[in-house]
Order: sequence, then C-alpha cells, then structure tokens
Amino acid sequence: MQLNDRLISNLNDEYKGSDPARILEWAVKTFGEDAVLSTGFGASGIVLMHQLSIVRPGAPVFYLDTDLLFDETYELIERIRERLDIRLFRVSPEHTLDQQTAEFGENLWETRPDQCCHIRKVLPLKKFLSDRKAWITAIRRDQSATRKNTPIFQQDHWLDVLKVCPLAGWTEDKIWDYLNVNRLPYNELHDRGYPSIGCRPCTRPAATNGDLRAGRWSGTAKTECGLHNRIIQPTDQ
Ligand code: SF4
Repeated sequence: MQLNDRLISNLNDEYKGSDPARILEWAVKTFGEDAVLSTGFGASGIVLMHQLSIVRPGAPVFYLDTDLLFDETYELIERIRERLDIRLFRVSPEHTLDQQTAEFGENLWETRPDQCCHIRKVLPLKKFLSDRKAWITAIRRDQSATRKNTPIFQQDHWLDVLKVCPLAGWTEDKIWDYLNVNRLPYNELHDRGYPSIGCRPCTRPAATNGDLRAGRWSGTAKTECGLHNRIIQPTDQ
C-alpha cells in the first residue's frame, strides 16, 4: 500500500512531538488489523507493546524468531504474554538452522552475517507483512547514527507498507522511566551489561559510549540487520 509523499509529509507535521499513544490510535483506527507492531523485546518494544495494549487491547504484535535468541529473551516472551493484552505472533524463517547449514555452511553468522540476517529476519518480515498495510516499530533516533533521521511516518517501498515509528523522538531515559513507573518486565540481560539484545552469536555486553546498539556484531563493521536499513537488495536473494 503506497501513500503519496505529500500525505506522509502532512502526517509527520501533524504528529510531530505527539504522544506515542495518539500515533498508535491513528494507526489502528486507520488500518485496523492491517497495522501490526513488530518487536525484538528490547526496552522500547516493551513500552510500545504496553501502550498498544491500552489503545487497542488484543492488537496483533509479531516477533522474528531466528531460533538463535537468548534463553533470557524466550523467558521474557512468556512474561510478556502473561502481562500484556496483545496477540503475539511468532514468525520464523523458511530455513531451519540445519537447512541453512546444509545450504550455506556452518555458522553463516560468522561467514556472511548479512546473508544470515536476510534469511532469518528480513525475508520472514517481508512475508509476514505481505498482506498488511502498516508496520509499527519501536526504533528511536537516539539509538544509533543509522537511526538518527528516523521519521514517525515513512513509506517502505520494498515492503509496500507505511512504516510507523511512534517512539522516534523518545530517549533512553524516558523509556526506562516508563518501564519503571509501569513496573513492566524487561530482559534481565540489560542488568548484565547488554545495552541491546539480538541473536546469541552476534550480541555481547558492551559499554555504550553514545551508541545504544553497541555490542551488536561487535568487532565488525555491521551495525544493522537489514530490517530498518536494507543491506541486501531483493535481487541479491
Ligand atoms: S543477528 Fe546474527 S545470528 Fe541473528 S540473523 Fe543476524 S547474523 Fe544471523
């Protein structure tokens, strides 16, 4: 579904500085069940899931299960299911880990991490969103240099959805204040020095030093999996 640039620009003007709940209200009112929130169960994602559960109880939320998440993340998923009134969908890759190894070799995350992310995250995302109209995400401008220009609304032409980022202007402090005030569960790995948490093989504890995604693919030039900054183009599949 393509919205024209003028309409998206008007939406960004109208909702600039808005409370995220107001943006969520617009999205679910406009698109109903065709607006869906994705989460990786980071602190921002939990804030947005909580807000969505209030704006639209039972709203659909999905996560990409690469089969390589931390045990602590899988435990958190169960706590979120118990705590929040949302419908949580697990989205998995077409390739099992064994199939991936058979086709591409051992530990693809070490040899070709962009390909691994493409198979285990980006393609499942595209498939899940193929019949949706709006993709809501919890990414924020303060998370990294690659995200510093994130608008609230933008068209993702490859996925053919309107991408909605209600927390684009929120800060790390604001997120943690919200989690604490609302006594929401979070991944205990944060208390063990992990600022950002993705797949087990590609995530390490790290000092942030201004980069809230430090510790992801550390020691390499890679900073994104390709969900929000497309790395492998469709023709490279
Ligand atoms: S984060 Fe690492 S293990 Fe996970 S999909 Fe990407 S390369 Fe593979």
